[in-house]
Amino acid sequence: MSSQAWINLAYLAASMLFIVAFKLMTGPRTAVRGNFLGAAGMALALAAACCEKPVLDRLASAGAGGLVTVAVAAAIGAVIGAMMALKYPMTGMPQMVALLNGFGGAASTLVAGAELWNATAVAARDSAPLPAWTQFAIATALTGFIGAVTFWGSFVAFAKLEELPRFKQAWTDPNRHWINLGLGICTLLLLWGFGANPSSNLLFWGLVIVGSVLGCTLSLPIGGADMPVVICLLNSYSGLAAAAAGFVIDNSVLVIAGSLVGASGLILTAIMCQAMNRSLVGVLFGGLGTTTAANADDVYAGKIKSASAEEIAMVLEGASRVVIVPGYGLAVAQAQHAVRELANALEKRGTTVEYAIHPVAGRMPGHMNVLLAEADIPYEKLREMDDINPTFPETDVAIVIGANDVVNPAARTDPTSPIAGMPILDVDKARTVVVVKRSLSPGFAGIPNPLFAADNTLMYFADGKKAIVDLTAALGKA
Ligand code: NDP
Repeated sequence: MSSQAWINLAYLAASMLFIVAFKLMTGPRTAVRGNFLGAAGMALALAAACCEKPVLDRLASAGAGGLVTVAVAAAIGAVIGAMMALKYPMTGMPQMVALLNGFGGAASTLVAGAELWNATAVAARDSAPLPAWTQFAIATALTGFIGAVTFWGSFVAFAKLEELPRFKQAWTDPNRHWINLGLGICTLLLLWGFGANPSSNLLFWGLVIVGSVLGCTLSLPIGGADMPVVICLLNSYSGLAAAAAGFVIDNSVLVIAGSLVGASGLILTAIMCQAMNRSLVGVLFGGLGTTTAANADDVYAGKIKSASAEEIAMVLEGASRVVIVPGYGLAVAQAQHAVRELANALEKRGTTVEYAIHPVAGRMPGHMNVLLAEADIPYEKLREMDDINPTFPETDVAIVIGANDVVNPAARTDPTSPIAGMPILDVDKARTVVVVKRSLSPGFAGIPNPLFAADNTLMYFADGKKAIVDLTAALGKA
């Protein structure tokens, strides 16, 4: 068998590993195995790509210095990647995903730029301009453009998720749609120009610049509550850029891996839009999630009832059904093991305990499932929003731990709210609601929550973990 046949076989094996990895990553029990398989597939694809003749030829022509440069760059990349993975807390994963999406987009753009540079140098030497509208021309233009949109869009998403001061406020200039329209028209003209004249490095980098500006102007107006959708969409863009780069360098495994990421990102985007009751067009162009929210003083003044661990333990003593609602604050407090202890204590008393999982609770899809699985909370006890919502009126106590936006009834009752229409967990319909958080400060969407001021709500102001440990202790004494 020829060496190219072995390389193709390795690409096929890598692609199959990617597909199996995706399948395994759909469940918390198999996700870790899926991750390892995906990484193994990537290592195999990388090793096979290094054996491709054009790669070997280039390395040979670059000499020992070239080889050392590649090895040092790969080592630096691996160290930075490993450090980021170790350093970032679970709660910072969306930021990390945003950065990784962005780097993927930038890498694709640079690959296309470098290939174009080489091709035009050869074309100039041979006095034979590159032919118009070939696979190379179209793929290079699309890679440069989509990669640039991805890099800058992801950078803005990272800054917003990191809550960097200048990026906290959404950009709501009413002229932004005209600016985006202008940039869209420029993009089409440049795409057309480059397609017809692919020897022009100038037109390519012009496309990259317009894509960079568009990446920023499309992400800057998006408000807090809509960020998850944007992250998924950028994830999909980074896959599309990689797939297009695969056509530039004629690499089948890059086309397959990029398409898988592009398609799965799009599917996730659709699921997130559905979970937040947003249309994709509304998220991207409507500036939703940026409308003015009610004043916190008007919502809370004189209506907040705060309770101690002992008082809440007395309420729990008489409860036959308790629903625990985890949110971002539970992840920050790392209270999952304490929650498990509380559930055990309640179950020993004969109380039924279940967990209500909102699709966008926390800071990434599936965040709460992973967190609770870490504490060995049985998966069957986690109930999805549509499934558990009808049961809240029969629930004695709903304990909301570090969740805010996903239990905000304003989404249901106030059409002017920035989160209006977003499906929420109807905890306000439970007989008693206990909200554990440190203060009355808002959640990610930055809006007050009328649930905290409701007649049936008791606020328990404390760090999530400490609160639950104290509550379990108080229940033991009751
Ligand atoms: P929120 O961000 O709405 O609220 C979290 C709450 O946790 C805060 O109000 C905070 O209040 C409290 N908190 C923080 N630290 C602690 C602590 N140590 N102990 C106790 N409480 C704490 O979280 P939700 O999960 O309700 O909603 C998720 C939000 O994040 C939604 O707006 C969603 O759109 C967005 N989002 C979701 C993503 C996803 O894919 N799931 C991705 C990106 C954003 P206090 O400071 O008073 O303690």
